[in-house]
Amino acid sequence: MSMIDVERLRGDFPILGEVKVHGRDLIYLDNAASSQMPRVVIERIARYQCEEHANIHRGVHHLSDVATTAYESARSTVRRFINAREDREVIFTSGTTDAINLVAHGWGRAFVGAGDEIILSEVEHHANIVPWQMLCEEKGARIRVIPVDERGELDLDAYAGLFNERTRLVGITHVSNALGTVNPVREMIATAHARGVPVLVDGAQAVAHEPVDVQALDCDFYTFSGHKLYGPTGIGILYGRAALLEKMRPFKGGGDMILSVSFEKTTYNTIPHKFEAGTPPIMPAVGLGAAVEYLSALGLPAVAAWEQSLLAHATERLTAIEGVRIIGTARHKAAVISFNIADVHPHDVGSLLNDEGIAVRTGHHCAQPVMKRYGVPATVRASFAFYNTRAEVDALVVAVQKIRRLFE
Ligand code: PMP
Repeated sequence: MSMIDVERLRGDFPILGEVKVHGRDLIYLDNAASSQMPRVVIERIARYQCEEHANIHRGVHHLSDVATTAYESARSTVRRFINAREDREVIFTSGTTDAINLVAHGWGRAFVGAGDEIILSEVEHHANIVPWQMLCEEKGARIRVIPVDERGELDLDAYAGLFNERTRLVGITHVSNALGTVNPVREMIATAHARGVPVLVDGAQAVAHEPVDVQALDCDFYTFSGHKLYGPTGIGILYGRAALLEKMRPFKGGGDMILSVSFEKTTYNTIPHKFEAGTPPIMPAVGLGAAVEYLSALGLPAVAAWEQSLLAHATERLTAIEGVRIIGTARHKAAVISFNIADVHPHDVGSLLNDEGIAVRTGHHCAQPVMKRYGVPATVRASFAFYNTRAEVDALVVAVQKIRRLFE
């Protein structure tokens, strides 16, 4: 396994070298919200805009053909990245939220009825709660919740006990954005499949940080966003098992998702086009393809090893500061640390860290049920990428010590 040469790789990210905050070098520790784009992605987007842009699929002219090839080859790149069986199992969406909504509408409205149940975990992002709640309200179905323990690990016995003949779907996050917990999704999928229940995995926080193989996981749906994967905003992926996608209803109607339209009857296109109505986000898809190629060339095992070393270092040093409480201490974590400093408000911590040039996120992280579970309204969250250094972790620790002293 090749190691990460972090100093050299930082040179690939223009923003890391260019931005000063309050006269200091930017220390970017908000990667779980959005990661930065390497130059190859920015240049690929620029080249697409300068040399290849046209609308896709419907054109016979040269540029339309070039743009269609760029868009469809990004789909193949993503397919290889997650090891889906076929390109048609990869649907471009505008992000994770859009992808989950697509399943809630396209699959949920067809297959969930009154009295049915959907199992979600207590650590879900609102994106994997609210669409199901809306569906349940419409259909008279209900949500069952897998509880999380003090460390931030899901209670797997309780999970197994939630199934019954009304269970229609399990929706679980691969990695919790608020706690960093890596859930044992493979095992949880096997539990659901043994009872004939399909599983949607929200992979927004996972795909950029560890290798994901949808066939090995055996998941039915897998969702993620480009902007957390060193790509642009406005693009995301829904992976779906072809047999399920074929049974699903389209979510949005319009151009490109049809084979024929008359006022009497419309025949829908085949997958994946059935779910990509209208002009899709072509340029962001091309950018995502370039980001995936960049990350694949680095190698996710090397990325994961470096990020794990940052996590271990940060956890050890932050834990040693009196008054710092880390929320989420699961045995298997991604490089996300949620914490609070005594009773200092997280927003104050965030803005004091900003004074030092350190970007972290503060708030409920769109995971209010998790915050409630730990009895806190919000946390400070530092989230690492492979381009972060040990020196940056140390700078965070020194700044936290300083804030702690200010409020003593
Ligand atoms: N799920 C998880 C676990 C997330 O971290 C996020 C982004 N914070 C989302 C879903 C939603 O992603 P997006 O805003 O890109 O749709």
